[in-house]
Formats: sequence, structure tokens, C-alpha cells
Amino acid sequence: MNSIVSPPLTVAKHEQGAEPIVRFRDLHRRFGDTPALDGVSLDIGKGEIVGLIGRSGAGKSTLIRCLNGLERVDSGEITIEGRRIDRLPERELQPLRRRIGMIFQHFNLLSAKTVIDNIALPLKIEGVAKPERRERARELLGLVGLSGRENAYPSELSGGQKQRVGIARALAARPALLLSDEATSALDPETTRSILALLKDINTRLGVTILLITHEMEVVRSIADRVAVIDAGRIVEEGPVWSVFANPQSDITTTMLASVRPQLPTEISARLKDEGDSVVLAIDTATSDAGKLLFDLQAQLGGRASLLHGGIERIQDRPVGRFFVSVPVDDLTTARQFLISHLARVEVLGHV
Ligand code: ADP
Repeated sequence: MNSIVSPPLTVAKHEQGAEPIVRFRDLHRRFGDTPALDGVSLDIGKGEIVGLIGRSGAGKSTLIRCLNGLERVDSGEITIEGRRIDRLPERELQPLRRRIGMIFQHFNLLSAKTVIDNIALPLKIEGVAKPERRERARELLGLVGLSGRENAYPSELSGGQKQRVGIARALAARPALLLSDEATSALDPETTRSILALLKDINTRLGVTILLITHEMEVVRSIADRVAVIDAGRIVEEGPVWSVFANPQSDITTTMLASVRPQLPTEISARLKDEGDSVVLAIDTATSDAGKLLFDLQAQLGGRASLLHGGIERIQDRPVGRFFVSVPVDDLTTARQFLISHLARVEVLGHV
């Protein structure tokens, strides 16, 4: 019974022509019968925050391991700053690996080392002189809001503080890409928000490119510019975050969005039938005045539409609205035409 009508949304692409920081081209990697990567292509543009989201087993870790050279692809190409890395021998991979700073779910700090020594470690490995690396580490401590804690040990810090140290360490060698591997998954919601705000701030102030690997839409919604959804080793959907939220194309994306978008209240969905006097519609809109759209729909239908549930949120400074309304069956065609002509997406959920 469900029918979805989607007008084309304008999809803003990241800067065309510029060399991406990372380029994945048609990557394949099998483990026995399992295609962990099944033709993954994705570009990470300079200065972007890209969210790569997928459920457990989707292929995220395999992709990261291939990017780090810890795993080899069966076929396909990976370039970092224009340099092809997928066939490089281990020795030549080392310096390129340092172009990627990583932060992890469990922080991966050295417990026997102080905060400042943890942060300075990548610079020590690079052979940077001690006074210089300590100065850089202090500068980074200030950046992540931990000035004064340089002599603390990781065990003396909260989870959020540990991740701040992890971020400072990841940035020490001025990487081309900051790769966040489920970096907020072990943190409470408030700490997650503060760490995401810090990442956004670093992206804005320093122009650092960030790839966020996550299974949480909330993470993507708060700071990513673009999102790619991976499922069974394939990128099933990709676009600006506001656009994917307003007009998801794949079932897996819709399912993953369920926890962060308004849903039809269960007492109404339990009453949905194949036939009835009224039709329940789900309306997604990313126009500048979603509230007015509903008001105008109401005027168009002579006041016969009822708002059941919904709301408007701002994603990337765009209003993204999702509403559930019921309209008399006889008004369905008019309602649908009106909404589509105003660039909304309309889904008929059923009758009441
Ligand atoms: P995610 O990180 O999204 O949870 P993974 O990349 O870890 O997904 O896994 C993708 C698929 O590849 C899964 O089906 C997983 O079981 C399989 N896989 C990953 N690594 C291996 C391995 N070393 N040996 C066998 N199967 C693997």
C-alpha cells in the first residue's frame, strides 16, 4: 500500500575538481564467502566532515584497515592526497600512515605515560626534538581544553578528557585526515556532545578533514557535512546530511534514521487499515519554511487536514521537517500534488 513520491532534491556536492584527501575506488575484499567490501567508492574532500555509517558487520572496520594498510584489498584503488597506496610495500606505507591521525572508542592511550608524553608520542616517532614536541603538545592541550593537565596520567582523567588527549595526539603530526573510529561510542550523551563539538571546532578552525566511522545517526546529524551509508560492503546511499535526512533513498538508511526522526505514534500506526475515510501521510520537507508549508496545505484543503505528529529540526543550518498528517481520502490527490509542487516528499502510510 505504501507509495512514496519524491521530487528531485538539489544535492550540493563537495568541491568538484579538487584532489580529494582520500579516494576509494571500487574496493573489493572477501573473507571466504563474505564480501566485506563489495565495490566501495567514496571520496573524502579537503576540509569535509564525512560520516560513514553502517550497522555491525557492514564493512566499516575492513575499510579502515585497508586505508591504514593493515589489510589489503583484492581489487580497487585507494589514494591518499593523490598517492596510490593499495599496492605499496609496508616500508613505504609507514610515512603515509602518519598522514592519518586516528581516534578510537577506547582511546588507546599509554597508561604509563603522562598526558603530554602521550600527545607528543607521534612527534617522538618522527624524530622531532624534545623541546619542540613538548611545545606542540602544550599548544594542542590548549586546543582541546586541557591546559594544566599535562602531567596527569590517563587513569586520572574522565572518559571525555581521555578522548580529548586522544584527539590532541591524533593531531600532533598535522595529519591530512582525522579518522574517528566510533570515538564517542563509549561516552555518555553529554560527553559525546562535547567531543563532537570539539571535532567540529577543530574542523572549522584548523580546516582538518574528518572521517567519522559510526553506527549512530546522531553523530552524523550533529557534525557531518556529508554521509555515506554502508551495508553489506556497499555504499547504498551518499549525500549531504540534510538531504539524506529529508529524503532517504534506501531501506537501511530509513531504518537507521528511525531513532532520530519523528515516527508515527504507535497508537496511530496500530489503527492503520487498507481502507478508510482518511489517509495518513508522512511528509518530509527541507524547504525554508516547513511550518508555512503545513499552514498552506491546510488552506488548500479548506482546513480538512489534521496534524498528527512531527517537528522541524535544523541540520547544517537547513530546516528539515517530518510531519504526519491525515487528510480525507477525497483530498489525497490535491494534497499530494500541492506537497510535491512544494518539493516535499510524501508517503502514504495507510488509512484510518
Ligand atoms: P563493521 O566494522 O562494519 O562491523 P567489518 O568490516 O568488521 O564490519 O566486517 C565486515 C564483514 O566481514 C563481516 O561479515 C565480518 O564478519 C567479515 N570479516 C571482517 N574481518 C574478517 C576476517 N578477518 N575474517 C573473516 N571475516 C571477516
